[in-house]
Amino acid sequence: MVLYNNTIGYNLMTRNLLSIETNCARCSEYFEPRTGALSVPIFQSASFRHPALGESTGFDYSRGINPTRLVLEDTVALIEHGKYGLGFASGMGAVSALIKLFKPGSHIIVSSDLYGGTYRLFSEYYASYGFSFSFVDTSDFSKIEEAAKPETQLLFIETPSNPMMKVSDIERCAQFIHNRGGFLAVDNTFLTPYFQNPLDFGADFVLHSGTKYLEGHNDTLSGFIVHSNDEFKETLRTIQMSEGASLSPFDAFLTLRGIKTLALRMKKHEENAACICSWLKNHKAIEKVFWTGLKEHPQAELSKKQARGHSGMVSFYVKDPDMVPKILRKLKLILFAESLGGVESLITYPVVQTHTAIPQKMREDAGVNECLMRLSLGIEDSADLIFDLEQALGG
Ligand SMILES: *Cc1c(COP(=O)(O)O)cnc(C)c1O
Repeated sequence: MVLYNNTIGYNLMTRNLLSIETNCARCSEYFEPRTGALSVPIFQSASFRHPALGESTGFDYSRGINPTRLVLEDTVALIEHGKYGLGFASGMGAVSALIKLFKPGSHIIVSSDLYGGTYRLFSEYYASYGFSFSFVDTSDFSKIEEAAKPETQLLFIETPSNPMMKVSDIERCAQFIHNRGGFLAVDNTFLTPYFQNPLDFGADFVLHSGTKYLEGHNDTLSGFIVHSNDEFKETLRTIQMSEGASLSPFDAFLTLRGIKTLALRMKKHEENAACICSWLKNHKAIEKVFWTGLKEHPQAELSKKQARGHSGMVSFYVKDPDMVPKILRKLKLILFAESLGGVESLITYPVVQTHTAIPQKMREDAGVNECLMRLSLGIEDSADLIFDLEQALGG
């Protein structure tokens, strides 16, 4: 594309050699000869004028390609170590587009402990269009082997999983499904490319709800697919353009702005999670704490192999479920709201919020019961967060 060229001082080749901190901070560096704008303009234009018959600037109509979105798509691809990025109006838009690569009749193996909206999309909608799904605990490799069928085309995992923080072995999953001629998709929303790059371990597709950590400020929705498959390059673009769930220019701008501080934010989210976990673990009202950074986490070694750190996502069981309404009422700083990954700390009650779409039996087998609460730790001061938890949980 000729209209933008983020090559001031360095080109895309050398950008691969820069650290993720630099690439995030400088992601939207934009070269525009006329004004020299540092920040990517919001190209709030539905359509683009053609210079002449049969000529195009590379931009025709924003449902297909938009310059602001394109800078963001390239940025997300770069930090995810992929060749191609596609931006959608939400994470679910990205998940839905990915499934369109496959034909009805395909079987898809999915992590059973996963984002409730993904479960709903698969089981309530795609299942009635001829796809079949097996929801299994993908952190237990034997469960994947048991679920595989001749028509299995895709293995779709969330690692760490939501909300139980189970870790699946990306490399092993990739080898397994590739041997059978299928593909591996990893929802990397929880760790972000700052901490984990699934494509490096053989995944074919990385998905993101950019609404969460990538954008980071709880003020817009976005979603992404990143991949390096030349064969799917055009098909995925056509799916994105045909379905029309493309990310708007303004939301693309906000997401780019969020990514500039991704590295700083992720470090602080992780630091807060470490502090809050050690406090929660010693609290008498708490039964158990789930965070991938705990040394007693069952897949702590695997996390070390495939991730460089841990996010601000922490789940815990309270001993007495009757405490839940009181805790939610009493918390002042930590907000009772759905979603995650923003600068504000949020608490959710998965059983009645994010995971209601999942049948009770499957939910409980995964460990999502009425004692479970999930925190998304923001970037506030950890002492203030502990003070808030202390007054809500009681000493
Ligand atoms: C939020 C979320 C999604 C869905 O993304 P939206 O942007 O809300 O559509 C998918 N996967 C995970 C892990 C999520 O947390």
